[in-house]
Amino acid sequence: MAQIINGKLVSAEVREELKAQTQELFEKYGIRPGLAVIIVGDDPASKVYVNNKEKGCAEVGFYSEVYRLPEQTTQEELLALVDKLNKDDKIHGILCQLPLPKHLDENAVILAINPEKDVDAFHPVNVGRIMIGDYSFLPCTPAGVMRLIESTGVDITGKECVVIGRSNIVGKPQAMLLLHKNATVTICHSRTKNLAEVTRRADILVVAIGKADFVTGDMVKQGAIVIDVGMNRKADGKLTGDVDFASVEPKASFITPVPGGVGPMTISMLLTNTMTAAKNAIIK
Ligand code: NAP
Repeated sequence: MAQIINGKLVSAEVREELKAQTQELFEKYGIRPGLAVIIVGDDPASKVYVNNKEKGCAEVGFYSEVYRLPEQTTQEELLALVDKLNKDDKIHGILCQLPLPKHLDENAVILAINPEKDVDAFHPVNVGRIMIGDYSFLPCTPAGVMRLIESTGVDITGKECVVIGRSNIVGKPQAMLLLHKNATVTICHSRTKNLAEVTRRADILVVAIGKADFVTGDMVKQGAIVIDVGMNRKADGKLTGDVDFASVEPKASFITPVPGGVGPMTISMLLTNTMTAAKNAIIK
């Protein structure tokens, strides 16, 4: 039987650390880390994420601003706001909630954010820094996964790690972070042949596909650590992961549940990046 990795608990630990650091920063320098979040339009899921980010800031004592812009906002208006926030000393981190409405160019917005304030770590400068292992900001979801793996106390060095999924926001940076911790890393995707053969080699299996209950017990090595990044809505509205918990849990040594695993970590890692950005701004 696997030990359950409790993402809520680990996330709460991260926020406690951040609270203490916020207080220290304020006492020493009179500065609070500041996060600006931009949301364009009325996407219900995005609204929930943005509200949670705002709440997260309040919880750890950060300064925050939320810009809720109408659907018909133009590219020029959005870029002008990013430019204003780039120049604002109270703001250490800027995040534009994706996806944007179709008429807006997401790439142009990502490029417009000052890399020193790019707390999502989506700017090519930060992506490149992650590649060479010289980074301030960790991409939030993969960073949360690393923290969860670390919470098991298992040393990543030399482990066979398999990541299923090669997206720019999860799979690819996840593989890089594991590599920087000296794992032997394999990345799988929709064209991978004999997927189960590859996944059965994994001491640590990270699954980020977006297909409910895709990974089953027969695809997992006895004693593996299994991290489920997937967030899928079932017909009954319930949230479920990419891993079939019922068949995988008996084989795994550690496993993350959905909900309550990777999900709660992502915003905590965003807050961690904002703290890092504030500290970097002080050092300058
Ligand atoms: P994505 O951009 O759609 O990428 C999915 C990846 O899975 C692709 O690389 C795709 O391969 C691969 N894939 C699809 N079907 C496959 C199959 N049958 N066998 C092997 N690989 C397959 O998704 P994403 O943004 O990375 O997100 C993945 C999941 O994580 C989603 O459920 C998302 O909701 C969730 N997520 C959760 C959080 C969180 O905070 N917990 C954050 C981000 C994402 P190809 O490249 O070949 O198409």
